[in-house]
Amino acid sequence: MSASLDTAASTARGDSAGPAAPATAPEPESTRETRAASGPDELCVLLKLGEIVLKGSNRKLFERRLHNNIRSAARDLPDIRLSQRGAGVIVVRMPGASDDQVTELSERLRNVMGIVWVHLVRRVAKDVDTVTDVALRSMEGRSGSFAVRARRRDKRFPMTSSELAGHVGARIKEQHGLPVNLSAPDNRVFIEVDKDEAFVFTDGIPGQGGLPAGMSGRALVLMSGGIDSPVAAHRMMRRGLKVDFLHFSGMPFTGPESIYKAYSLVRQLDRFQVGSRLFVVPFGKAQQQLRTSGMERLQIVAQRRLMLKTAEAMADNLRAEALITGDALGQVSSQTLTNMTALDDSVDLPILRPLLGMDKSEIMDQARRIGTLSISELPDEDCCTMLTPRQAETAAKIGDLRQIEKRLDAEELAEYLVSTAQAHRPSFLGDTEPAQPATAAR
Ligand code: ATP
Ligand code: MG
Repeated sequence: MSASLDTAASTARGDSAGPAAPATAPEPESTRETRAASGPDELCVLLKLGEIVLKGSNRKLFERRLHNNIRSAARDLPDIRLSQRGAGVIVVRMPGASDDQVTELSERLRNVMGIVWVHLVRRVAKDVDTVTDVALRSMEGRSGSFAVRARRRDKRFPMTSSELAGHVGARIKEQHGLPVNLSAPDNRVFIEVDKDEAFVFTDGIPGQGGLPAGMSGRALVLMSGGIDSPVAAHRMMRRGLKVDFLHFSGMPFTGPESIYKAYSLVRQLDRFQVGSRLFVVPFGKAQQQLRTSGMERLQIVAQRRLMLKTAEAMADNLRAEALITGDALGQVSSQTLTNMTALDDSVDLPILRPLLGMDKSEIMDQARRIGTLSISELPDEDCCTMLTPRQAETAAKIGDLRQIEKRLDAEELAEYLVSTAQAHRPSFLGDTEPAQPATAAR
C-alpha cells in the first residue's frame, strides 16, 4: 500500500502541488498553513475507530485517552498532530517527517488499542484534479477490479460523493484499463473530503480494535513464562485495562531464565499499552516453606493461592482493581472448577480469566498473532514445577488450605514477598529507567 501511495505522492508533488516540504527540520506554522491553503501534499495516517464511537457522552473521555495513548506510542518520533474528524476518524500528521517515519508511525498505531483500521493516506488539496491525479497514481501497477468510495465531511464541495467517485472511477478505468466492481472489488480507492483538505488512500491494515488501554481501569497480570498468561494480558488490555505484570521466579533454587522470558514477554506486550511495569518476586523459599508445612497433594493450589495473595497485596499499591491469570478450564490439574473456586477464595479482588473457555490451540494461534509464542516456547525452569507432588489434588478443600495457611501466616508471608519484589520497565523501545519499587508505586 505504502509503495504505490509513495509513488502517487511524488508524482502529485511534481505535477500539481509545488515542491515537496523538506524532509527533516519541521517548518514554521505560518509556512505550513500557507502551503496547506495552496495545496498540501503530505503522507499521514488516518485511523478508523470502532466501538469508541458508540460510547455516547463518554466519547470525549475515550477520545482523550486514545489520543494520549497514540502520543505515547509515538513519543520518540517527530512531533505529531492529532485531529478528530467526526466521531470515528482521527488524522495523525507528522509535519516535516520523512515518509519512512510516517510509515513507522502507522506500524506503531496498528498496536494501539481502540483503532480498527490504520490507513497511510495522502493529504492533498481539495480540488477535483489533484484528488483524481493522486487516486490515479495510487492504482498504478495494480491488477484486478476496483471501486472508488468517496465521502464528504464537508458538504460544500462542488461535487456530491457519488459524482466524485464516478469521475475518479472513470479516469482510473480509462487510464489503467481496470474493470469496475462496486460490490466485491479487488482494490478500493478511498477519497474523503474534509473542510480544509482531502485524503486519498487505498486499503489499510487492521488495527487491534477494542478500547483504549486505561479506559477500563487498571489490573495486575500474574505472568508466568508460559503461553497462556501473555495472551490473557493482551485480551484484557484490548478491553481497555492498563496492566502491570507480576512474575514469580523459583530463585534462589532456579536460574534467572524465567525472569528473562517474563521480561521479553512484557516488552512485546508493551507495544499494546506503553509504560508497562514488571515486578519479579523470588518465590523459591516460600514454596519450600509451604512444602514443609505439609501441603503435599495441595502444594500446587497452595502455591497459586500464595501467588494470588501476594498479587492482591501488591495490587493495592498499584491501584489495580483486579487480577488476571491465564487459566483455562481443565487445561491442567490446578485448573479444575473446584480448584479455581479454591483460588477465588484466597483473595477479595476479582480474578479475571479471559482464556477460561478457550482451547490450547486457539490460545497458541492468538499468541502467534501477538508475537509472544516464540518467546514463551523458550526453555526455562518454571517455579511451579519445582517441589511439586507426584500427584496433584484436583478437588482441593478450602478448609484444609485455610488451616495450613493460618499456621504459616500466609498473609504476612505475602506482604513480605511484596517487599522483595524487583521492579523493571520493559519498554518496546528498548531499555529505559527502572520502575518505582512496588511498595512506592502510588
Ligand atoms: P501459562 O502458560 O500462562 O504459564 P499454564 O498453562 O502453565 O499457564 P499454570 O502453570 O497452572 O498454567 O498457571 C496458570 C496461571 O497462573 C498462569 O496463566 C499465570 O497467570 C499464573 N502463574 C503460574 N505460574 C506463575 C508464575 N511463575 N508467575 C506468575 N504467575 C504465574
Ligand atoms: Mg505456566
